Amino acid sequence: MYHFSLIAKPVHHSKSPLMQNKALKELGVSGVYTRYELENKDDLRSKFLSLGLNGANVSLPYKTDALLQSDYQSNSSKAISSANTLVYKNNFLYAYNTDFLGFLASLGLLDSKTNFKNALILGAGGTTKALAYALKLKNIQTTIANKSSSRFKDFDVKCVLYDELDLNDKYDLIINATSASLDDLLPCDENLLKPLFEKAFYSYEVGYFKSPFLNLFKEIKKDEISNQKAFYQDGAYMLCYQGAFSLMYFLGLVSDDEQVFLQDENLRKKAFDIAKIMYNIAFL
Ligand code: NDP
Repeated sequence: MYHFSLIAKPVHHSKSPLMQNKALKELGVSGVYTRYELENKDDLRSKFLSLGLNGANVSLPYKTDALLQSDYQSNSSKAISSANTLVYKNNFLYAYNTDFLGFLASLGLLDSKTNFKNALILGAGGTTKALAYALKLKNIQTTIANKSSSRFKDFDVKCVLYDELDLNDKYDLIINATSASLDDLLPCDENLLKPLFEKAFYSYEVGYFKSPFLNLFKEIKKDEISNQKAFYQDGAYMLCYQGAFSLMYFLGLVSDDEQVFLQDENLRKKAFDIAKIMYNIAFL
């Protein structure tokens, strides 16, 4: 019987155990997915091994430690400098990042060309790194804006403080990758967002509870949304897809080369089916 787990701090709020256990059951796999709240980052690897895990999802604040304490790192996890998926096989610990895959899949961009010429990401944290990597894969020109500049050195795209944004610039896709929505806040001043929203046609929020950010977009683009000329989504599908891709790594359904997801239609279809199971149990 497989044993998988979520390792993070805190873990009590996570939907992952619900989603993963439901998927294991529906796939007919003998396994259980638990949660473990880790106190000390240095114990990540030893705890993974002492729990006898076959695989784990790693979330805040340990995604960088997951990368550093693994034996093998996928190309994307190295590029993003963080791993959200650990798999134990052949006595080695393998690290992957499925956040960027989940993001691309949620936008239907894994297999297809995009009509986004450019994107603005609000926030410069760990998730932004996965998103910026994904957008670069798709040749979407990306700008990052944040309330502080200390993390700009982690990025190789244009980074600006909010008050340095040129409000005449047009971004097709505007993404809120901050955690501001958790506190029911906009990521930046409404007067900055409004003119940018006017010109955008897609707005994306990585959170999946409430979103003042998406609410503002919906208010401003009401007519275009009802005419299917403007679109929005929250992070629910991203969450389910990243979980589905992680489960496929856990079960050895994919090779170590993450490019397979971009190339193999059958694997993408499998991920879609698993993500759908997860979405139905977690969000419907
Ligand atoms: P980090 O802590 O690494 O980064 C948080 C970012 O948000 C920073 O840029 C920070 O700014 C900014 N920020 C925090 N509070 C505010 C605020 N009140 N106003 C404006 N900016 C703010 O977090 P992550 O990048 O790891 O996660 C961000 C969000 O993404 C979380 O809410 C998480 O739940 C969600 N997420 C969703 C996933 C999904 O599958 N849907 C997957 C992974 C994450 P500063 O740098 O100045 O501190």
